[in-house]
Amino acid sequence: MPDALYQRYLKALDTHRDHCAACATCTNASRCHEGQRLWDAFTRSQDAYLARQRSRRNAP
Ligand SMILES: [Zn+2]
Repeated sequence: MPDALYQRYLKALDTHRDHCAACATCTNASRCHEGQRLWDAFTRSQDAYLARQRSRRNAP
């Protein structure tokens, strides 16, 4: 069964990484507007994924 939350998390990371590779403004220290938006999308999907991992681990 495909794990939608995990796939979204990986996709968001890929999208951000691709942007950073192509963007002249984005560095490890600073991000352009679009880079920041993609980074926020990545951290949100990461948070959702990790939160679910935690809730699964705590489930009986
Ligand atoms: Zn950028």
